Amino acid sequence: MTARVLVVDDILANVRLLEAKLAAEYFEVVTAMNGVDALEAVQRTKPDIVLLDVMMPGIDGIEVCRRIKSNPLTQHIPVVMVTALDQPEDRVRGLEAGADDFLTKPVNDVSLFCRVKSLVRLKMLTDELRTRTGGDPLRLISSEQLAIENQPGNVLVIDNRAAVAERIKTALLGKHVVTIATDPQQALEACGQAEGGFELIIVNLDMEGVDGLRICSQLKSMEQTRQTPILIIVDPDDHQRLLRALDMGVNDYLIRPLDKQELLARVSTQVRRYRYTEQLRTSVRASIEMAVTDALTGLYNRRYLETHLAHLIEHAVNRGKALSVLTLDVDFFKAVNDTHGHDAGDRVLQEISGRIRAAIRNIDLACRTGGEEFVVVLPATDIQTAERVGERIRRMVASKPFNAGPDTHLNITASVGISALAGVDETVEELLKRADQALYRAKREGRNRVILAAA
Ligand code: GH3
Ligand code: MG
Ligand code: MG
Repeated sequence: MTARVLVVDDILANVRLLEAKLAAEYFEVVTAMNGVDALEAVQRTKPDIVLLDVMMPGIDGIEVCRRIKSNPLTQHIPVVMVTALDQPEDRVRGLEAGADDFLTKPVNDVSLFCRVKSLVRLKMLTDELRTRTGGDPLRLISSEQLAIENQPGNVLVIDNRAAVAERIKTALLGKHVVTIATDPQQALEACGQAEGGFELIIVNLDMEGVDGLRICSQLKSMEQTRQTPILIIVDPDDHQRLLRALDMGVNDYLIRPLDKQELLARVSTQVRRYRYTEQLRTSVRASIEMAVTDALTGLYNRRYLETHLAHLIEHAVNRGKALSVLTLDVDFFKAVNDTHGHDAGDRVLQEISGRIRAAIRNIDLACRTGGEEFVVVLPATDIQTAERVGERIRRMVASKPFNAGPDTHLNITASVGISALAGVDETVEELLKRADQALYRAKREGRNRVILAAA
């Protein structure tokens, strides 16, 4: 993994030490020795992660972190606070300022690389999602932002000692909604079924008679919980299992004895990070949907028709099934626009889409391919059956006036052309072209009719 790391510390020896360790692992290192330079370096070098000393003259590390995290252009950059071991309150202040993690001095190599790599990996995922959604962090509107920041998290605690689990619940009381599972196996089953599930799962690694690592690995492999962050609780001397857990993709850990403030801050950070990623995932899904559907009617667009029809033809050929295509064009549509305006025309198009949808099966593919032109693909349908469907659509359009606005009820008709797959090597273009030719004949012969293409 290669990534750019910004190391900030006011003591040169500390900077040099971290720089050497990171460079040896092929990270690209940028350095700064005070808060002002650090903020400037964040803007200029766009690091993948920032390692930030807390105590610095002038703007201290906490304030630098707060500024990085309150700027929409930099808030996605992970920040790790580097604190002295005897300053636990610094960690809490750092996490409250939005820091994603912390390391204690002297920095231990294993925890340095584990945390840096896991945060960089998460950032790469987030970066990818951001580019795919247009990369505009300001698109998260403020109410969504608020929901991400302030709503209580839905947290599951897995621990078979009820008293320990209760203490965690009490520490999170008022800030998060906590469910306790004292039977780990049952918890897994419940997670597998839960809809809209948990936003964080806390697993105690040293339960009695249960392998906590196995629980984590099962959570990471189940569809419903694969994306859910896991926070584990470990003993200070359980280094081996901590490393294996991090390797497995566990997102964060707490070392016993638990510091209540630290627990709270880490849970809040994980929940926030999870929500941010989920938000991006949702907008990726929405933009994929936008790319294949037509905004006015919600039907599929021409691009989708062309790619998907090729698959449907292949499928039909392989199984020796029929396939028909129906093209529809609204009659004298220009007159609707000219007489009643473009908005009235749009409403007619929306209503036509609704009537087409109502006349076809779920497996049929309805598309709006142009202004007032539609295509419906009918899998496993021969031309006689397709003719009946075409006739049904024609009738549904012609039989009832369209509501195109207040007191505007219009009688509309449409012409339909139909072709059926003629041979094993007919292409998408040929099939659509024959349906179009039939449609032109329908227009020439007087409109408001269905015409079948010759094979
Ligand atoms: P024909 O019976 O021969 O099909 O006549 P027509 O008037 O429907 O044919 P023509 O193709 O000349 O007109 C199509 C019109 O559709 C032209 C354009 O103003 C209108 N149109 C295209 N896209 C849209 C749209 O998205 N909304 C609206 N309201 N009108 C559109
Ligand atoms: Mg037309
Ligand atoms: Mg037309």
